[in-house]
Amino acid sequence: MDADQLRQYLEFYQDLGIKTLYERKATPAPDSPAGGPDADQGVRPTAGEPLLQILQDIGDCTRCRLHEGRHKIVFGVGNEHAPLVFVGEGPGADEDAQGIPFVGRAGQLLTQMIEGTAKKEGINLRREDVYICNVVKCRPPDNRTPEPDEMEICGQFLYRQLTTIAPKAICVLGGTAAKAITGHKEGVTKMRGKWFRWRDIPVMVTYHPSFLLRGYNQEAKREAWEDLKKILHFVYD
Ligand code: URA
Repeated sequence: MDADQLRQYLEFYQDLGIKTLYERKATPAPDSPAGGPDADQGVRPTAGEPLLQILQDIGDCTRCRLHEGRHKIVFGVGNEHAPLVFVGEGPGADEDAQGIPFVGRAGQLLTQMIEGTAKKEGINLRREDVYICNVVKCRPPDNRTPEPDEMEICGQFLYRQLTTIAPKAICVLGGTAAKAITGHKEGVTKMRGKWFRWRDIPVMVTYHPSFLLRGYNQEAKREAWEDLKKILHFVYD
């Protein structure tokens, strides 16, 4: 890797919110041979591991069929120590092209929702102060809903991200991510605005910004703002 490639590589990680790099030991542990089930699947939840470790374990992932159509793995972005994490469903076309979650129209609305609501509530908060990621890290074809097996395979990395960040609360966007994180089967209209838990961490479910972008969902927009107010005050008061 030359100096220019190294700089680009470091800038990419910095954009993902990773500020510290750790050297990984090259020698595998004696009871965990490289290529064994642990090393291969990356399923071992390890509290406190660096996000970079998780990213490295994802590698050039081919664990599920979603890798076939992806351009970039969309790992997550923001503050590695954020007290608040937003979790969406999966990358769309813009995210797939850039490798960063919520950068398309829905992402712009999410940014407005976070920053606008915080400002109105007297909370000094920028998008880069929170952490944003998705249940699946590769774009599903034609933006279809991720399949249960895809969410299960990729969910292990989300769980490791959440374990590492250990936020004060998680805001889940939309019904698919809500099911994946809470295990509840009700629709988002029933779940929104209520508190659930992922392990010990309080979880608030609200509407997905893509749903709010559909012009007829004015009431849902108001409700999403209410949900955000609730979670922002819980986390930042
Ligand atoms: N929708 C999502 O669920 N995630 C993104 O990153 C973008 C759109």
